[in-house]
Amino acid sequence: RLYNEVIELRGNIRVFCRCRPLNAEEIEKGSVSVIEFETSLDNELQVTCSDSSKKNFRFDHVFKPEDSQEAVFAQTKPIITSVLDGYNVCIFAYGQTGTGKTFTMEGTQQDRGVNYRTLEELFRMSEERNGVMKYDLFVSMLEVYNEKIRDLLLDNNDQTIKKLEVKQAADGTQEVPGLVESHVFSTQEVWEILKRGSRARSVGSTSANELSSRSHCLLRVTVKGENLVNGQKTRSHLWMVDLAGSERVGRIEAEGERLKESQFINKSLSALGDVISALASKSAHIPYRNSKLTHMLQSSLGGDCKTLMFVQISPHPSDVGETLCSLNFASRVR
Ligand code: ADP
Ligand code: MG
Repeated sequence: RLYNEVIELRGNIRVFCRCRPLNAEEIEKGSVSVIEFETSLDNELQVTCSDSSKKNFRFDHVFKPEDSQEAVFAQTKPIITSVLDGYNVCIFAYGQTGTGKTFTMEGTQQDRGVNYRTLEELFRMSEERNGVMKYDLFVSMLEVYNEKIRDLLLDNNDQTIKKLEVKQAADGTQEVPGLVESHVFSTQEVWEILKRGSRARSVGSTSANELSSRSHCLLRVTVKGENLVNGQKTRSHLWMVDLAGSERVGRIEAEGERLKESQFINKSLSALGDVISALASKSAHIPYRNSKLTHMLQSSLGGDCKTLMFVQISPHPSDVGETLCSLNFASRVR
């Protein structure tokens, strides 16, 4: 609880930056990273721009290319576990395609990311509180593509029959009626579900990576808690969102479907930025309704909800324009 109280004092919005390593091909070609890290601090970085000028940025935490998934999760844990105390939480991975959004959230079989580690930790903590609290965990997975919601845990045949929409429930919270909620009991089961959802994400596209970079993928964990001492019940949501790639698409390259897609992505990412910066500046009006993404997350963004954004960046010189855009976006919401 101590850590959560510290977080509350500092406000409910955190921004972490994570820089991916140069890959083998880039190293082979002799590329040199444009990102430098302050060795004595873990929250500052410096970008060398294409005109050789330097720009400094500060975040709540900066992860260097060599930082492990475990190190990333250690910083994330206090925020996500507050869902067990009844808080709603949203985590986003933002950035250009290829910067490690999916690596941070999903990870790989050997090097699992925030999604799996979170569920593992929630199971561990609910076990720990056994006898005082009883928790039930439910998992949903969905995708937002061109402002349409698709259930990733539903058989593909049923997709066309069921149209998912954001609706306001009787208590004023936002819901997606009909969304599949899998009651989960073990981490093994969770891993299978996450894999299934992730496979469903690429269905219907010729290139899996292509489509996944143009849609938002959302994992929702619903926690139902019961206090066994006083009978009090809680229900809270934890959303873990792998956002569509933030890269700007040139008008000349993009036409037809691709242009429409990129307009939807721009609209929803800027709507998300607008909502978070309105929350950060304690604005009276929060523009949730400007995109499906923010509308769906309305009940989990703002109030005493906790928000964490990972801004993912590339160290490569040719990406420096996009890197600066992402860092500026993230600075705006902090
Ligand atoms: P995105 O989802 O943003 O498009 P990916 O997560 O697919 O990016 O990452 C692109 C590639 O870089 C993948 O092969 C991924 O494994 C690798 N990668 C990204 N971040 C890291 C990291 N921190 N350490 C090691 N490899 C990484
Ligand atoms: Mg990805």
